[in-house]
Amino acid sequence: MSLKDFDVVGKRVFLRCDLNVPLKDGKITDDGRIKASLPTIKLLLDKGASLVIAAHLGRPKGEAKPELSLAPIAVRLSELLGKPVTFAGAVIGSDVEEKARALKAGEVLLLENIRYLAAETSKDESERAELAQELAKLADAYVGDGFGAVHRKHASVFDLPKLLPHTAGTLVAAEVEVLKRLTINPERPYGVVLGGAKVSDKIGVISNLLGKVDVMAIGGGMVFTFLAAQGKEIGSSLVETDLIDTVKALIKQAADSGVKLVLPTDILVAPTFSIDASATLVSADAIPADQMGLDIGPESAEAFADAIVACKTVFWNGPMGVFEFPSFANGTKVVAKALTQVSGISVVGGGDSAAAVRALGFADSEFGYISTGGGASLEYLEGKELPGLSALDL
Ligand code: ADP
Ligand code: MG
Repeated sequence: MSLKDFDVVGKRVFLRCDLNVPLKDGKITDDGRIKASLPTIKLLLDKGASLVIAAHLGRPKGEAKPELSLAPIAVRLSELLGKPVTFAGAVIGSDVEEKARALKAGEVLLLENIRYLAAETSKDESERAELAQELAKLADAYVGDGFGAVHRKHASVFDLPKLLPHTAGTLVAAEVEVLKRLTINPERPYGVVLGGAKVSDKIGVISNLLGKVDVMAIGGGMVFTFLAAQGKEIGSSLVETDLIDTVKALIKQAADSGVKLVLPTDILVAPTFSIDASATLVSADAIPADQMGLDIGPESAEAFADAIVACKTVFWNGPMGVFEFPSFANGTKVVAKALTQVSGISVVGGGDSAAAVRALGFADSEFGYISTGGGASLEYLEGKELPGLSALDL
């Protein structure tokens, strides 16, 4: 059942959103995910529901880390909605239950970072089920709209919807719609561009995607594990040494399956990871032992761009360099520009990638779609079943 037909009049709805926005010194640097959550929030409020909104921020790992509180998110959400948002200050407990019970139609309560509770992300089914029972006390119905977390088997994503009448929000529905276009008979050539910092998160999906795409370009922090696998010196660049053998096998798999693997040929290096570090351009074969790679070089960026514009379907996840430092933003900028020139469909996925294209001055409308989920989109493209989608019968 779609959200439009879901009966919420006079009901208290538990809405799982993805409000995991980038913060710097306590300030939100890109509120894209909050904005992306607004249509469902407004639709539910217009339909006469009251809302208990749950979300996570960062990875507090089961501890109440003040710097990962959702308090600043409540402020921004209230500004964007143009109405008060009560901040619960906790996730569960009698005080939160009381605040939830006091909600009138059209009112909003935002819970504290749900990942403050270890049970949310626990691998132990019974721990998650217990938390889900507590959360179920807060509402009469469940709407899942936190696309960025649907690949996680978490209490608020997977276990809770089973306890309440449930449906997907409009964001999740729209995301799935786009991902279907990338998986069901994608127009070819089909290219994927990967970068970013979370090497181990993403390396697992590469093998699967190699069976589906025609071109794969790799940059960002994860590329140094590839260069290391090719026996190159990578200096003090980001690397996951325990994955070097896996990457060697992936490089072979790409060659065997005829996928064009595009790796950088030049790298911008610096002696330290800092905003004012001086950048030096070196060949990817000659990274000095005392330097770290912080962006792909201009020659590589051009090669990536050529590969991208030749494709009819492109998915991009992960910045090509440390775009937060102006001297190391060029690779990401050139790749983003190329995506805007794709004649078929171009999709940008990932919180930092979306923030990067906006920070670099691109408009959302220049891309086919900007997904709010990085890991979730990648796992969907891999063909995996996503717990948060199956819980919503999607
Ligand atoms: P997304 O959120 O889009 O999925 P990730 O979280 O995986 O992307 O990665 C984003 C981060 O990767 C950015 O903060 C960026 O600074 C970092 N990054 C990119 N290239 C490098 C690099 N060469 N070395 C270190 N960090 C990098
Ligand atoms: Mg990220």
